[in-house]
Parts: sequence; structure tokens; C-alpha cells
Amino acid sequence: MEFSTTLTSEPTTDERLAEILANPGFGVHFTDHMVTIEWTPDAGWHDARVTPYGPLTLDPATAVLHYAQETFEGMKAYRHGDGSVWTFRPEENAARMVRSSHRLALPVLEVEDFVRAVDALVAVDERWVPESGGEKSLYLRPFMFASEAFLGVRPSQHVTFMVIASPAGAYFKGGVKPVTLWLTEDYTRAGRGGMGAAKTGGNYASSLVAQQEASSHGCDQVVFLDAQEGRYIEELGGMNLYFVHDDGHIVTPATGTILEGITRASIIELAGKLGHPVEERRFSIDEWREGVTSGRITEIFACGTAAVVTPVGALRWDGGEVAAPASTDLTMRIRQALVDVQFGRAEDTFGWMHPV
Ligand code: PMP
Repeated sequence: MEFSTTLTSEPTTDERLAEILANPGFGVHFTDHMVTIEWTPDAGWHDARVTPYGPLTLDPATAVLHYAQETFEGMKAYRHGDGSVWTFRPEENAARMVRSSHRLALPVLEVEDFVRAVDALVAVDERWVPESGGEKSLYLRPFMFASEAFLGVRPSQHVTFMVIASPAGAYFKGGVKPVTLWLTEDYTRAGRGGMGAAKTGGNYASSLVAQQEASSHGCDQVVFLDAQEGRYIEELGGMNLYFVHDDGHIVTPATGTILEGITRASIIELAGKLGHPVEERRFSIDEWREGVTSGRITEIFACGTAAVVTPVGALRWDGGEVAAPASTDLTMRIRQALVDVQFGRAEDTFGWMHPV
């Protein structure tokens, strides 16, 4: 796939860019360009282009606004000490978008084209990738949506894929702190045969009210249980969970209805190499409560692209609480090992990094 490129005539000034990169926050500033590729049944994917970043003009009948037929990804570009820029396992994000798109009846964008699209944007907006040294990065948001103006309920006959980018600050400004979790008993995020394993906007729309519930109880994030039995741990609104046991083995929930993170998959490999085999299985809320109380669970952590790895503190629910597990040692070792690979401070023995 070839991309045409139209550069902006008004690039962000060096002065303004330095100001943004000094304090990027998350998801508030966007780079100077974006990538767009169109799809129709007859032409397939076509008209791949890099253009100046700017608003879209959409017909009010555009299908995605009504039926939420869309998928997206979240990933990052990192600057290494020698100035080079790398993405982390972009083929895995591409493959997950293919799986999500199958579920949402969207067309398949080949892994290679996805990676090329992301590379094209990072290359043209390279100066937006923050300096090496801290934990700042350039967050990348590929997304695909039903762009046909039609109100019938059927798969869209016009689909648009785009990539935008936004510099992201270190997730934890004052050092890594354990997150407090709220166990929601009123809301679930995914049912059998539903969209839980897909990265699609509807899952996030449905999680917001549960996240509000968590915040109103003074908690940072919400934990979802399985929809059928209401017993098994699924995940947080935007992170997967890990439970470290006193004999060294680790369990991560697998239910078929969670969004399987690229960070989650990477930690399975990394922890194994550190001598901590990871078991993927159903893990009940009772095991959590009893494990922490008895000391059999020594650490709990959550993981995802945004925060990498973050220790989990107390878990609260309506009428109860389990305290934070005793330790965060292995959590912090795994976090460091992963961050070091991403920022090029350790050898990439897994071949995870992709040069842009
Ligand atoms: N679960 C959910 C619901 C998420 O939104 C995310 C973030 N994409 C994750 C898990 C972690 O996935 P990843 O490691 O690929 O960021």
C-alpha cells in the first residue's frame, strides 16, 4: 500500500512543541498530521494518505454515530537514548484489530498495512516523540469506523481507517502508586457471545457508569466480574489483572470475554523468563479475598499500554474491603524490565521493538 503525503503548511512551532512536550498530559494535544485509508466493497482499501491533522466533516446519518460499528487500538512510540524511534509489537495491535474487526463486521486491514500506516504517521511527526530519559512517549490511536451515510442496520459499505497521535506524559508523576479498586456488582462489561474480547467503543461506553460508581466510592478503577455467574474476575475498565502467589507462580484471568492486552501477553513471556510461570485460567473473587487474607497472594498488579504495570492496592465493594497484598517487589521488577525494553535501556531479547 502506497501513501500520498500532504504536509501541513502550518507546523507547530518548535517553541510551542517544547511547551507541549514539557507537560503533555494524556490525549489533549495532537500531532500535525493524520493517516486516512478508505474502504469500499468494490475497491477494497484505497486512497491511503497522510494529511494535515484536522476535523472530519460527517453526514449526520454516518452509521458509526448511530450503531457504533467501530474498532480501535492503543499503542505507543518510544524514543531511545540514541534518538531513534520505536514502536512496541505493532503487529500484535494490528492482529488484535483484525480480530476486533471480525466481531464488528468490519473489513480486515492487513497487519502489514496497519503497521505501515502507523509508521507513516510516526515518521512524519517524529519530532513529537518526547525525548528519551523519562517515561514520556507518543500515544498512537489507530481506529476504523462505519463511514457510510445510511440508517439501515447492516455492515457499512464505506469504512474509514485513521491513525492519530498524541504525546503522553509519564502515567505516574510522583512515582508508581498502588491503585485502589472498586468491585462493581451492578454492571458487567461483556457477556457470552458479546464483544468483550474486541476493542470497540461500545465496551468503553458501557464501562463509564461503573467507573463513575468507582470514583464516587473513592476508588481509582473498577473491576468487572463475568456476566454469567458474577464470580470470576475479568479485568479493569482499561487494564488486565495479575495475581502473584507465595510459591512464585502467577495467575491471570482468562474467560474468553476479556480484552487480551499486548502488555498482558508480553508479561506472560517475560515473567516466565524471570522464573515465574503464568497460568491463564478462571480466577474467582473468592480466591482473591481468601488469597490476600491468608497471605497466599503476595502481590496483585494491573497492566496496559497506558500505565505499563501498576500495583493493585485495596479492593472495595458495597459493604466490604480486602486490604492491599503485602508486597510489590515482583510487580516493580516486571514493570522495570518491560519499560527498559520499550525505552531501549535493556536488550530486546524477545524481538518486540519495531524501528520506525
Ligand atoms: N483491557 C481493556 C479493557 C483495555 O482497554 C486495555 C487497554 N487497551 C487493556 C485491557 C490492556 O491492553 P494493552 O496491554 O494492549 O494496552
